[in-house]
Amino acid sequence: MATNRTESYPRDLAMAGPPGAKDRSSTRRANLSLILNLLHGEGGRSRARIAADTGLPKATVTNLIAELVEGGLVREGEAEREGAIGRPGHVVELDGRSLCGIGAEVNVDYVSVTALNLPGDVVAQRRLSVNVADTPPEEVLSTVAGLVAETVEELRRQGVRTIGVTLAAPGVIDPEPGVVSYASNIGWREVSAVDGLRRRLGSAAPEIHLENDAKLGAIAEFVTATTPGVRDLVYLTGTTGVGAGIIASGKLLRGNAGFAGEVGHLPLGDPEQPCPCGRQGCWETAVGLAALLRLAADPDDEVHDPATDLDSRLRELRRRADDGDPRTLAAVERLGEALRSGVALLVDILNPRLLVLGGHFAVFGDYLVPAIRDHVHETVIAPNAGGCELVPSQLGFTAPARGGAYLALDAIYQDPIAIMQGLQAAG
Ligand SMILES: [Zn+2]
Repeated sequence: MATNRTESYPRDLAMAGPPGAKDRSSTRRANLSLILNLLHGEGGRSRARIAADTGLPKATVTNLIAELVEGGLVREGEAEREGAIGRPGHVVELDGRSLCGIGAEVNVDYVSVTALNLPGDVVAQRRLSVNVADTPPEEVLSTVAGLVAETVEELRRQGVRTIGVTLAAPGVIDPEPGVVSYASNIGWREVSAVDGLRRRLGSAAPEIHLENDAKLGAIAEFVTATTPGVRDLVYLTGTTGVGAGIIASGKLLRGNAGFAGEVGHLPLGDPEQPCPCGRQGCWETAVGLAALLRLAADPDDEVHDPATDLDSRLRELRRRADDGDPRTLAAVERLGEALRSGVALLVDILNPRLLVLGGHFAVFGDYLVPAIRDHVHETVIAPNAGGCELVPSQLGFTAPARGGAYLALDAIYQDPIAIMQGLQAAG
């Protein structure tokens, strides 16, 4: 569905890309896109180096850069001298601070919004505790639309334009009509989420798309990974539901019908334990957030209170673990035991370079990772676990929303002309 993408930058290949009408024949669009991808993937550089790196004529590069500077997508940086002879050239670098993408997330315990500008800085963030499963989907969509509208308006007042919104949902989604087909943990079936948001946000709203939370989390982890040369990554969500976002050879794996990575329902849990999907013994009933809370605290304990922000409830549990509370420590140990067999399976099947533990797994990362790492190294068939590094996410519960924001920003790389035309119309 996407066009004009350069094949050399892994960031770009991970993106599914917002669909839309594209002019395949536009060389100019492709060349602008090529330059933006180069600056994003490889960092700022002089016009001469851009010409050398892209193979475009220097005069063409000069014209295209002028257009991108005018459009606010790149800016002139410091002078750079290449070699001892000749005039120093000014470094051209990615700008885009006046543009942002918004990721919104619906999950079991909350709805949230994260806005990122093109350099990837968080420019706005909101989260509300909502018991989503007990709230009608239409009401949840109204809450999400309210958060998005407030954020767009706040950014507009700062001179930042929102170019797109991606909604993350914890289940199987149909991205093209934008329908949540099935999300067992929030009780959604065939919910027309994109249409619902469009109706509420009105015709002036930015482009809206829908994607699965684990897949967006994987995109966020892939884009922000500090390990060099990562092409294969698995992101495991840690909320009530558990799913994997898989990036294989730099590409997001969706599978034939979008079900790739639905690992939460693998039969790796207690065979007696019922799952909201209707089966018993699903992995997420043993490792999901509900299992951890159930093991760690009685039902009337404050950590179960859905009205309290999830981060503060988990901070409280973390504090108890650090204080040596035996029940909390036993619960975290059980979590690790239930987690490790599934993690080893994923490493055997997918041979990732990075396996990132998200959500509540990341809160207890230093408790969980060493034992799981040992187990993975002992049981995985590949020597040295196939080079897999197991790491807790640094993005916390914001990973899916951030991935949604990155996906919205991807429109800039795919069609910079449309974005710059939109800027002129708005300005
Ligand atoms: Zn299940």
